Amino acid sequence: MKKSFCLLLVLAVLLPCFVACNPTEGPASHEHVFVHWRTTTPATCEADGEETATCSCGKTKTRPVAGGHDYTLTELDISENPTVERAGTFYCANCKTTLVRSITPQDIGMPIVTLTGSLEGISKENKVKVSFDYQAEDQSFTCEATLKWQGATSIDYPKKNYNVQFFEEDGSKKKVELVDGWGKESKYCMKANWTDFSQARNVVSAKLYGDVARSARRTDEFSSLINGGAIDGYPIVVYLNGQFLGLYTMNTPKDKWLFGMEDDPTLRQAIFMAEQWHDSVSLRVPVSYDFVSTNWELEHCSTEEDPTIGTNWSVDSFNRMMNFVQWQGGDYFKENLSSYINVDRAIDVLIFTWVMCGIDNTSKNILWITYDGTVWAPCVYDMDSTWGMWWDASHLNTAGEVKSWSNSSVNVLFQKLRMYYADEILARYAELREGPLSDKSIEKKFTDFFESIPDPIYLAEEQRWADRPGLWMNHEQQILSFAKEHLDILDDKFVKGTW
Ligand SMILES: [Zn+2]
Ligand SMILES: [Zn+2]
Repeated sequence: MKKSFCLLLVLAVLLPCFVACNPTEGPASHEHVFVHWRTTTPATCEADGEETATCSCGKTKTRPVAGGHDYTLTELDISENPTVERAGTFYCANCKTTLVRSITPQDIGMPIVTLTGSLEGISKENKVKVSFDYQAEDQSFTCEATLKWQGATSIDYPKKNYNVQFFEEDGSKKKVELVDGWGKESKYCMKANWTDFSQARNVVSAKLYGDVARSARRTDEFSSLINGGAIDGYPIVVYLNGQFLGLYTMNTPKDKWLFGMEDDPTLRQAIFMAEQWHDSVSLRVPVSYDFVSTNWELEHCSTEEDPTIGTNWSVDSFNRMMNFVQWQGGDYFKENLSSYINVDRAIDVLIFTWVMCGIDNTSKNILWITYDGTVWAPCVYDMDSTWGMWWDASHLNTAGEVKSWSNSSVNVLFQKLRMYYADEILARYAELREGPLSDKSIEKKFTDFFESIPDPIYLAEEQRWADRPGLWMNHEQQILSFAKEHLDILDDKFVKGTW
C-alpha cells in the first residue's frame, strides 16, 4: 500500500514534466510557439521549398513554400491570328524563361471583352449583331449584343467608339450591373478615346466632376446621380475576332438613364446636346425645332414617344431660357436667373471647365438638362480635350490658357455669370480648391487611373494603332505638370481678381 502510493506520487510529479518536455509525443501542456521561420529548402521555379521553425521546447515544424515561376506580362500578341487566344508573353525574372498563354483579367487587373462576329455594314445608324464575352475579376458573362458607332467628330477616326446593347437569348434586353452603384443597364459605350492616348482625361475628369457635384451643400436632382450627371467609366481590353482591338474605356452612355429620366408623357424632362460649334450652342441664336439645322441633337425628351405632345415644348423652353440669359442684365438678371437656370450647377460647371482647361467645354461640349421643363442646368461631357490637350492632339495648350473664358464663342451664360456672380464664383472656387479640386485630389485621381493600366497594355495599344496622335509624349507626366502649373496660374488670377 505504501509502496504503490509512493509510485503514484512519483508518477504524479514526473508525468507533467515528461509530457511538457517531450518534444515529439503526447499532448502538450503548453501551446507551441513557432517563431523564426528559416528556409531549409529554397523554393525554385520548378519545385516547392520548405521552411522550418522550432518551439522553445525543442519541437520543430516545417511548412511548404510555394515554388513556381514569377511571371509578369511583358507583351500582348496583336497579330490578326495569334496561335494562342488572347496571347500574352510572360517573363520570369528568376529563371529568365518566357511563357506564352492567354491573358486573364487577373493578369492585367482589367476586364477583357471579346467580340465575335462581322462588323460589316456598321455605322452610327446601322447596328450589327455580335457575340459579346465579358470577363472581369468579379463577374463574367457571354451574350448577344448589337454594336453601332458612337460619336460626332470621332466617327472619322480609324478606331471607333461603340454603343453596345446586351440581349438575352429570348431577344429581350439583358441588364447587367458592370460596376457596383451603376445599377443594372443593358446599354453601355465602349470609348476608343482616339485623341487621348492616355485614355485618362475623359473618365478621370468625370470622376473629379462627380466629387465636385457631390460636394455641393445642397440637394437637387443631380445630387444622387453617378458623377453629378457626368459619365463614369473604367479601362478594358477589347478583342475582335481573335485580334487585339485595343485599350478602351467602358463608359455609361450619356442618355436618360445617366440622368435618372424616363419616357413619361406626364413629365417635362429633356437632354439637349450640341453637335458642333454654332452660335446657338453659345446661346446666341435660338435652337430650331428639328435640332439638326442649328447643330443640336435631342438626347432625350420624356414626351418623345407621344406624338400628340411631341418635343417642341422643350425647344420653346430652352429658347425662353436663352432669351432671358442673352438679353437681361443687372439686378433683374440676378433676381430671376434661378427661374431659368440651376445657378449652383452652372457655377460648378463653369469653374470645372476652367480648372480642366476644357476649351471645347465652354460651349460645344455641354449637355443641357431640364427636369421640370423650365429650369435648365448645364452638365459637363466629352472631356478628352482637356488638361492641356488640343482637340485633335496635334499640340498642347499653354497652362493658364484664358481664351477659354474670354472669346466670343463662350456661351453667354458663362459670361453673365462672371459679370454678376463674381463673389459666388470666387468663394466656390476657393472651396473646391480646398477639397475635391485640390492639387492632391487631382493628382491622386490621375495616378490611380494610370496605375490601373499595366504598361504592356499601353504598349499593345501603341503597336496596334501606330498612327494614333499624341504618341510622342508621356501623358501622365504632361497631365500632372500641366494641372499644377495651370492651377497655380488660376489661383493667382482669382486671388488678384484679374480674371
Ligand atoms: Zn513547445
Ligand atoms: Zn522561372
